[in-house]
Amino acid sequence: MISTTQIDNHAADSLFRILDHGKKKSIESDKFLDKLARTGILSDDPRIQELLNIFRVKEQEKRKSPTISSSEFNEILKQNALIKKSLTENLVIPDFEFFCKEVEDIFQETLKNTDGKVADYIPQLARVNPDHFAVSICTVDGQRFSFGDSKVNFCLQSSCKPINYCLALEELGEYKVHCHVGREPSGQSFNELALNSKGLPHNPMINAGAMMSCSLIDRENNTADRFDKVSKTWQALCGDKPVSFNNAVYLSERQTADRNFALAYFMREKNAFPEKTNLTETLEFYFQCCSIESCTNDLSVAAATLANAGTNPLTGKGIFKSSTVQNCLSLMLSCGMYDFSGEFAFKIGLPAKSGVSGALMLVIPNLMGISIWSPRLDQVGNTVRGVEFCKRLVERFSFHQYDSLTGHCKKINPRRKQNELMASKVMELIRAASFGDMDEIYRLQAEGVSPNTADYDGRTPLHLAACENQVEVVKHLIGNGVHLSPKDRWGNTPLNDATRFKNKEIKAMLEQAIKIKRNGKANVLAAVANN
Ligand code: GLN
Repeated sequence: MISTTQIDNHAADSLFRILDHGKKKSIESDKFLDKLARTGILSDDPRIQELLNIFRVKEQEKRKSPTISSSEFNEILKQNALIKKSLTENLVIPDFEFFCKEVEDIFQETLKNTDGKVADYIPQLARVNPDHFAVSICTVDGQRFSFGDSKVNFCLQSSCKPINYCLALEELGEYKVHCHVGREPSGQSFNELALNSKGLPHNPMINAGAMMSCSLIDRENNTADRFDKVSKTWQALCGDKPVSFNNAVYLSERQTADRNFALAYFMREKNAFPEKTNLTETLEFYFQCCSIESCTNDLSVAAATLANAGTNPLTGKGIFKSSTVQNCLSLMLSCGMYDFSGEFAFKIGLPAKSGVSGALMLVIPNLMGISIWSPRLDQVGNTVRGVEFCKRLVERFSFHQYDSLTGHCKKINPRRKQNELMASKVMELIRAASFGDMDEIYRLQAEGVSPNTADYDGRTPLHLAACENQVEVVKHLIGNGVHLSPKDRWGNTPLNDATRFKNKEIKAMLEQAIKIKRNGKANVLAAVANN
């Protein structure tokens, strides 16, 4: 018997051979890291720091680029499942290099768009260079890539709202939170002086609702600790990368806050806040959250944490419960893009949240988080390039949440290897033929799976239908003009199978069809299928 360790060793040897191009029986650490980076595992990834330490020690000993022997490589693979997953192309986006090239193309196209104007209600936003553009991606397996000004900080503004909502949910649960805030899109601008029919903010993604979340978070504690809680959460979401605080933005926000104060008084008049809420403290807390700063490089990891149901892909820390994230993403989908939310949900079909700094957080559940930043805004306050980038992305890739319904033939699905995908569809068709599942057969054929395809053993849908006495399927396949006598790897044709399993009706049908075909009467073939 072969043990699993032996199998692992074989797998390790094969991978080593792929990396050891020069057949020197060793791999240079630089080349190894380069290969990992091409699969999206970057050198600041906390999950490969132990490996990097080994390289550093080797480097100090030898004073040159360290190498890894086959047995060391074997050991590395045993210790670190991520590396094996990455080298065997088993991460969620197997061909990450290809995917990034496509995204870069979209980035370059979108860069040309210089429409819109930067927010100017406070000088700190008005002064930002409007030409900045950054996009960062992080998959649920922690594969990362960035384009443009991805290390330049900007303030979160409204993109802080989903996280404040999550914090309130974690602390108080869905019922209590929604005693104070609704979950319907408002259909109005983010700071509209409007509440719902119960006198509550429409949802947590607009100003009134975000202030309400702030009033709920850690309310027994002092203001400093409450802010600490929020900024520590952002830090954890960003993969333990520190976030900063822009005090000038905070002071300006506080100084130009008439509308937000008006909203807060309106809510107080309607008894929307929990008892004993200090209005000024709540508003200041909200402005502080808006003034937290980070860059797309780190914020993409936060978005990926939401895509990954609340567990950070890089640190493995569980930050939010999956039910919290589900609620948050539902509201991001219906309310996250101001009064463009309905259009965004229709066209892009993904949860997102924007902010007046030009920030946009896009979540593709179970796949990736994307952080975009470009300060020029459209009429409703969304980043112009951000929205265009999302549109182009969904035009090219099957990321719209309902793309699965349409078969998304023309769009790229980077989730799995294309040949793997086709192989699995062939298997599905063969299975459907053996069970007589006509609906599934029609669906798969509509997706472009040929009824003449065979599995590894040369078994076709016609073989399986003939064995399992699926008369209806055989009729359908003959009517579709499939090859009537394909041989499997044991040399058997569907007719042999029908004879062997004594499926008389099918046997007669096949014999008749073969005869007609031999006489060159193709249209009579359809008649066989129809009778
Ligand atoms: N600080 C801004 C405000 O409260 C945030 C608004 C936004 O990003 N839409 O007005």
